[in-house]
Amino acid sequence: MNAVSGFDVVIVGGGLIGSLSALSLADAGLRVLVLEKAVPGAEASSAAAGILAAQSESKVDNGLFALAIESRERYVALSAMLRERTGLDVGYRRCGVVDVAETDAALGELERAFAFQRAHGQRFERVDAGALRELEPKLAGSLAGGVYFADDGQVDPPSLFVAVAQAAERAGVTFRSGTTVRSVRVEQGVAVGVEVEDGFIAAGHVVVAAGAWSALVQGAQLAAGTVKPARGQIVELSLRSPPLDRIVFGRGGYVVPRSDGRVLCGSTLEFVGFQKDVTVSGVAKILAMATALVPALADAKISRMWSNFRPFSPDGAALVGDAGVRGLTLATGHHRSGILFAPATAERVRQHIVEGKVERAEPWAPSRLA
Ligand SMILES: Cc1cc2nc3c(=O)[nH]c(=O)nc-3n(C[C@H](O)[C@H](O)[C@H](O)COP(=O)(O)OP(=O)(O)OC[C@H]3O[C@@H](n4cnc5c(N)ncnc54)[C@H](O)[C@@H]3O)c2cc1C
Repeated sequence: MNAVSGFDVVIVGGGLIGSLSALSLADAGLRVLVLEKAVPGAEASSAAAGILAAQSESKVDNGLFALAIESRERYVALSAMLRERTGLDVGYRRCGVVDVAETDAALGELERAFAFQRAHGQRFERVDAGALRELEPKLAGSLAGGVYFADDGQVDPPSLFVAVAQAAERAGVTFRSGTTVRSVRVEQGVAVGVEVEDGFIAAGHVVVAAGAWSALVQGAQLAAGTVKPARGQIVELSLRSPPLDRIVFGRGGYVVPRSDGRVLCGSTLEFVGFQKDVTVSGVAKILAMATALVPALADAKISRMWSNFRPFSPDGAALVGDAGVRGLTLATGHHRSGILFAPATAERVRQHIVEGKVERAEPWAPSRLA
């Protein structure tokens, strides 16, 4: 293949981050090509539990909190827009998350850790043992209570990905599967396209959204190991009807009820390179955690198990925006929250490419790691 041009933007990686960014750029009138080494959406973006834990995973008052709330709220319009364009339901539900504690002391600590959120106008509620039982009767009777976040929610990541990819194709985005990008070609300080196995693809702009593999793309301006794989395992159970209405966080993991009776239990956090295994110790830990929280799960059927790789950055925050080379944007390193943060990321990618906006003060600015 010789140089192929005609694309304004080439995106490396067809996960949710790359595909939603592609949709947002196509909606802005750009011609977009997404290059995917395997099958679009087949990696972390379809393996995730889909928790939109903007509040329930924020115990530190930093700039990420505002981004998390912004991105969670973007799901209202995004899910409606995807339904309108594709007819698909992405499983978006503001179902609430309850973070439970085993002792009164632990409950007090939890409440204190989340207290800063009130100053940002976000609500949550401390529930004692009795109120917790009323909220979720199938939770273990030994729990001291919990902190309840009514505004956090969930999506179903595989359904979300299908809808995003369909909407992107309808908006004119081209997806090419089975194409591994080896490197970003930079000439005189400007990214001019990408090298693939059988040639060069020219583009006005390159976005690296290759998830846990991002630092393996030569020329991406990411030092070796800047983004590395953090394996997570999930066990999916099936019941006739959901045992819970809300997502439950315990100290060792979470339990996510879907409306159709599936329950996702997760997860592990392991640095084992790209070994995509489900292990005995991982599954044992997850099931012990889940049945301790919801004893009735002991009778549920195990329907599936899987693992995949969160893209982990050194400080746990994503790298989104100016890569330090003209014509190159990063959109990676979202670690445990890439589903939550996808809408805010796609918007930042659009702003960088379409409006030329470079934000150096944001917690996601890649320049912070330079
Ligand atoms: C078990 C588990 C549970 C999770 N739960 C949640 C959750 O509840 N909530 C939440 O917000 N987040 C969750 N996450 C995190 C979330 O899944 C990720 O942060 C997010 O999916 C990252 O999206 P991505 O598009 O960057 O990566 P990916 O989905 O991995 O996509 C990257 C794509 O790039 C492709 N690629 C890589 N290298 C190349 C190359 N050189 N050329 C071409 N293509 C390439 C890959 O094949 C892949 O398809 C979870 C993750 C895991 C593993």
